[in-house]
Amino acid sequence: MTTEILSSSELNKVAPVFGQASFDEHEQIVFCNDKDTGLKAIIGIHNTILGPALGGTRMWQYASEWEALNDVLRLSRGMTFKSAITGLNLGGGKAVIIGNSKTQKTPELMRKFGEFVHSLSGKYITAEDVGMETADMDTVREVTPYVTGISESNGGAGNPSPITAYGVFMGMKAAAKFRYGSDLLEDKIVLVQGVGHVGEALVEHLTNEGAHVIIADISEERLEKVSNKYGASIFRGENLFSQKIDIYAPCAMGATINDDTIYNIQASIIAGAANNQLAEENKHGKILQDRGIIYAPDFLINAGGIINVYAELEHYNKQEIMRKTENIYNTTLEILERAQQNNVTTNHAAVNIAKERIAQRKAEKLNTL
Ligand code: NAD
Repeated sequence: MTTEILSSSELNKVAPVFGQASFDEHEQIVFCNDKDTGLKAIIGIHNTILGPALGGTRMWQYASEWEALNDVLRLSRGMTFKSAITGLNLGGGKAVIIGNSKTQKTPELMRKFGEFVHSLSGKYITAEDVGMETADMDTVREVTPYVTGISESNGGAGNPSPITAYGVFMGMKAAAKFRYGSDLLEDKIVLVQGVGHVGEALVEHLTNEGAHVIIADISEERLEKVSNKYGASIFRGENLFSQKIDIYAPCAMGATINDDTIYNIQASIIAGAANNQLAEENKHGKILQDRGIIYAPDFLINAGGIINVYAELEHYNKQEIMRKTENIYNTTLEILERAQQNNVTTNHAAVNIAKERIAQRKAEKLNTL
């Protein structure tokens, strides 16, 4: 393999990390490479003022390394706000592994990734995200204690996805209360996009409550399984976003609310699990506000998972996990009301509260110096 030497003018064309559109004063970005296992990963540490940066690892076949970097920058920033608004003493971090989780994930690759996590001495603590299972975290645990989301048989809190789904359900009900005056979702038409770990558990809550659930996924196998189990209808049309629905629940990948989709969305509420649902938070948050669509901020309502894994560090029990997750209902209602009173987007209202908590802790730390 030859390595090309770039001239200084060519080098200047390469956008450096600090110049990335999604770079937002991140503290540290770690690029991990291991030829033997094929590991190519990026760990993003956004902010550690409230505590160690905790956030899951995503394994995804990114179209380019820039896309992977952009994703880890956006995801780790979101984790900072998620933990801050949930009242956890955690900072924001996230990791991405570039590759196909179905064909390229091996125990050796996961252990090597764990070694990189370990080299950060606890500044970053990992967990599962898209493309990861609890068993993968058990493998990482073999080489580092800086991992959560491990199985209950290994002393962990187990798969966080059902708790995430419960929190999303709570956030959705709060948004319904705000929008319709009742939090009952019976007879509401809800589109769940992505019926993986979280999406499926959300479908279960929704069908139990009598909602009409439509599901969409790129995996035919998932569609069949979830449809057969819960009686949900499968979306097979051309334009997912122009469906006449009450609630849109994005539970796959981020940025589904973007220039191409935003004016087609017919729902009156958006509440789902996916991280970074708004392609551009200010612009798209404002368009939703102007269109009268209630957006329940993703990092606020999908915090059940982090509440669950945080229990492994703080040793609180399942009852406390459920109590904290249920409280997402109250926080969501509070944020929606605050946004309305101050005439700002719901995302803006939530980010502001998170930033206030971080600023307060920073001031306290400075005062104790
Ligand atoms: P998952 O990998 O189990 O499920 C994702 C599902 O989305 C899969 O079934 C996949 O086929 C489908 N999908 C992917 N691209 C799609 C597309 N373009 N259209 C339709 N479907 C598509 O992941 P998960 O753990 O269920 O997480 C879902 C989302 O929620 C992710 O954005 C994740 O970051 C976020 N999240 C998860 C947790 C958690 O506890 N697992 C916590 C917080 C946030």
